[in-house]
Amino acid sequence: MISKKMEAALNDQIQAELYSAYLYLAMSAYFEDQNLGGLAGWMRVQFQEEQFHALKFFHYLAERGGRVELAAIEKPAVTWDGPVDVFEKTLEHERVVTGRIHDLVEMAQAEKDHATASFLNWFVDEQVEEEATAGEILEKFRMVRDNANGILMLDRALGERTFQAGD
Ligand code: MG
Repeated sequence: MISKKMEAALNDQIQAELYSAYLYLAMSAYFEDQNLGGLAGWMRVQFQEEQFHALKFFHYLAERGGRVELAAIEKPAVTWDGPVDVFEKTLEHERVVTGRIHDLVEMAQAEKDHATASFLNWFVDEQVEEEATAGEILEKFRMVRDNANGILMLDRALGERTFQAGD
């Protein structure tokens, strides 16, 4: 059985993952508005990934005899200042999420809750990837700056991403 404190912390994380999903869906809508369909698609895959993360916590809590309690999700921003701004905010956001995951790991360790610490390891690895991916895309958009050809080329390439549910 999971502790009440850990149950509350994992419920908070479900909310944080769903907020991430909501944020990336808002970014997808922004890119649609900018006629950057590839980037809009990339952000919708990101939206699906975040929903998958939330469900991973949902299933884990249920498996451990915890109670899932859903909280309100904050309204995300509506507009950004181009792809560089979007990916700066994405990287910033993922760094915050990484910090949250690390805090959860430390809580699990302090409680000697080895099962939760082990479960969280998947997310520790996932965050390394999330930050690397956002950072790489950001650097590419910084390289092309306002060059329309460069932006359209990246839009096309990133539009090829599809959702792969991990393990
Ligand atoms: Mg996530």
